[in-house]
Amino acid sequence: MRKSFLNQKYRSLEEYTPGEQPKDTVYTKLNTNESPYPAGPKTVQAVCNQLQARRLRLYSDPDAVKLKDKLAERYGVTRRNIFVSNGSDDILNFAFLSFGEDGVLFPEISYGFYEVFAELHGVNYTKVPLRADFTIDPEDYRNAGKLVVIANPNAPTGRVITLDDIRMICETNPEHVVLIDEAYVDFGAESAVALVQDYENLIVCQTFSKSRSLAGARLGYAIGSETVIADLEKIKYSTNPYNVNTVSAAAGTAALDEVDYYRENCRKIQETREEAVKVFEELGFAVVPSLANFLFVSSERVDGKVLYEKLKERKILIRHFDYSPKVTNWNRVTIGTPEEMQVLFGGIREILAEEA
Ligand code: PMP
Repeated sequence: MRKSFLNQKYRSLEEYTPGEQPKDTVYTKLNTNESPYPAGPKTVQAVCNQLQARRLRLYSDPDAVKLKDKLAERYGVTRRNIFVSNGSDDILNFAFLSFGEDGVLFPEISYGFYEVFAELHGVNYTKVPLRADFTIDPEDYRNAGKLVVIANPNAPTGRVITLDDIRMICETNPEHVVLIDEAYVDFGAESAVALVQDYENLIVCQTFSKSRSLAGARLGYAIGSETVIADLEKIKYSTNPYNVNTVSAAAGTAALDEVDYYRENCRKIQETREEAVKVFEELGFAVVPSLANFLFVSSERVDGKVLYEKLKERKILIRHFDYSPKVTNWNRVTIGTPEEMQVLFGGIREILAEEA
């Protein structure tokens, strides 16, 4: 059999490896940073309404006007400041395609897709090391002279940079786009959305996947100046104008009307996170301070990969990261419900006893 028909230039591309999505539901699933709480009742109703109205016969609105107007109202901007997408991955894809011709700079330990999109689109990339405590040194991005992409909070570390740092990076890179990926901003960090009115080169992207319990709907959005949003729209209209489907757009629009419900979920998750930090520390783990819905942890008592595997045997999924040779012993644990965390810690206690 022929090995491949793929264009030569893609043959050595290393694909992004998504987190495991088990086909059965018996797992305590703490591996891909979804919300442990269901979408709100109005959000679910909006999805059902779309199905009943037989809206699926027609194409979705490529401008997603209702969703954009709701987002514009929520963030105090106009429709022309908003780009909507099939998950925020879609925005990242478009951004690397649209703004990467001088190269791109992103943290060495960050979201794995950045490297994949850079490779895919032939964008030269530089991975900037983090400090020993996993923080980003903003000075590394001063006068970068290329596209800058930073997740804030960063993943999988949960650490943040300040709005002053973001201001400095935007000011010293006036000819290039600065993309702040705020997938996890709703769990206690400060958003840079307020800065888009000051910096034409700033794009802030967010998602409905985490704090708004809609990972399966695949819905993300970016907020930026009319200039950068028009640039993204141009590329979207040249590749996939119907990138947001009707049902997801309706779900997102309704979710924006259930602010209190989702805010309360975020509060619960933050509370559970702080409890989890204490338990991990009692068990002797190193825990990176996190403002996201996950914790980056490691223990000298158990190898990170072994912990991941032994938890999986117990039907508990977390995510193992191997940024070898620098960072090999770390795991990322999504914050679940308090009950799910109890199951996790029960498993960890057993494994630590076995390893002793
Ligand atoms: N950015 C970061 C930092 C992420 O961790 C994720 C989720 N894996 C995304 C973006 C993409 O999220 P989504 O496409 O579900 O909006």
